[in-house]
Amino acid sequence: EKSGKLIIVAYRLPFKLVWENEEVRLFQNSGGLVSAVLSLVKSQNNAAFNADEKIQWIGFSENSPEELEGQSMENEHFQAHPVFIPADVNENYYEGFCNNLLWPLCHYFPSLARFDDAYFEAYQTANQLFFEKLAEVIQPGDTVWVQDYQLMLLPALIRNHFPSNKVGFFFHIPFPSFELFRMLPVAWRKALVDGMLGSDVIGFHTNDYVEYFLKAARLVSGYGNKLHYINMSNRIVKVDSFPISIDFDQFNEAFEDPGVVQARYDARLSLKEKIIFSVDRLDYSKGIIHRLRGYQRFLETYPDWHEKVSFVMVVVPSRDTIEQYQQMKSDIDQTVGRINADYGTISWQPIIYQYRSMPYPELVGMYTASDVALITPVRDGMNLVCKEYVASRQDNRGVLILSEMAGAAAELGEALIINPLDKQDIADAINTAFVMPEEEQMKRMEAMRQRIRDYDVFAWTNDFFTQMTMLELEHERLR
Ligand code: UDP
Repeated sequence: EKSGKLIIVAYRLPFKLVWENEEVRLFQNSGGLVSAVLSLVKSQNNAAFNADEKIQWIGFSENSPEELEGQSMENEHFQAHPVFIPADVNENYYEGFCNNLLWPLCHYFPSLARFDDAYFEAYQTANQLFFEKLAEVIQPGDTVWVQDYQLMLLPALIRNHFPSNKVGFFFHIPFPSFELFRMLPVAWRKALVDGMLGSDVIGFHTNDYVEYFLKAARLVSGYGNKLHYINMSNRIVKVDSFPISIDFDQFNEAFEDPGVVQARYDARLSLKEKIIFSVDRLDYSKGIIHRLRGYQRFLETYPDWHEKVSFVMVVVPSRDTIEQYQQMKSDIDQTVGRINADYGTISWQPIIYQYRSMPYPELVGMYTASDVALITPVRDGMNLVCKEYVASRQDNRGVLILSEMAGAAAELGEALIINPLDKQDIADAINTAFVMPEEEQMKRMEAMRQRIRDYDVFAWTNDFFTQMTMLELEHERLR
């Protein structure tokens, strides 16, 4: 018996649309989810769906139906089904409920969370629009995989109308402890939890997020659990952790790419003998200001390193039309300026700061040139940058300094784990990294590399879908 198609539902489509002479060209995204999903198709052993059929992808369209009229929305791998959301609804849905409420709340910034009835209304409307598009596509036997906090209501909508289809849900940001989650109005909390519980399998990055969700399900909706299973009246929901990962081989092999070799050479030539590197999107969850204060404390406490260290800090523009993000950007600009003014000399700039995105060879060039990757989010669902750093270090050198608030810290215990709010902790870790003997660097790096190699992004998707197919068997066992 052949199983049905795979349908992905995510806020974003798998490709960028570029207009050329009235015609749309599709540029497939290189991001994690797209390549992860493609790998599933390549690994033919997956019985969850029929890999001969194109993957159906339902996502928000920035273009109007008129603009897309008559345009092909498929490439060799994906057939896309754009969801049209009126601009005012999308504003309250995406900017509003998702990014002004769920994002700050789930990242432990409740003071930035805005509660607005119009937001929740738009969130419901938008989830319903995604559902209606899905309803045009779904057939018996199809497997649906719903992505992230923009679509928490969708699994239950699917369950109610298409009870026999398999539904998976993955939550890519931290699921917060109950004291944060309960700040949502009762009706909203319940809708979100019940919405997610429409799934067969619900995935999070870490066991902590799983635990917090199970607690929310118990306290908000009254469903108890036995270990990873929630027993609903007529079915079982599995809740488990699946730490998302990266394409290890790609980063590992990039070490020798001519562009990477050149970028590494350029960096080493123009920078001081010790190089610290960080790269993140502009976001308050990334701890950029705290990192700068930690670096400043390092310069204060360890003056022997003056003139010998370059901190290359790259911030990738994001959401910077929002006032809050502009404010954050100018705080960063000022702090960098102040540190460089206080400590810099004619021959030494302590921080080299760039506000722009980084081409891939340059990124891996910096990963492989730096003595320290300084990754200090105050909260991060996973954080892929640290995994990319580790995977890039084919030479087994370099030290990862990693915040305990990143999901990745659960897997990367051989990093120097720091509290990102503690300046002195960051300062001491930098010094420790600089004086760490090579054998110890290698021992730590090898252990981390082995772990990411074993559980790369392909293992991640495979793991998730194995659990989807296994659930059938587990149902029997648990009944
Ligand atoms: N990245 C990027 N543009 C850049 C530099 C980096 O897209 O100019 C990538 C980086 O390689 C990584 C991702 O952005 O894959 C960031 O993922 P992470 O989970 O660390 O943070 P997020 O931005 O998703 O919160």
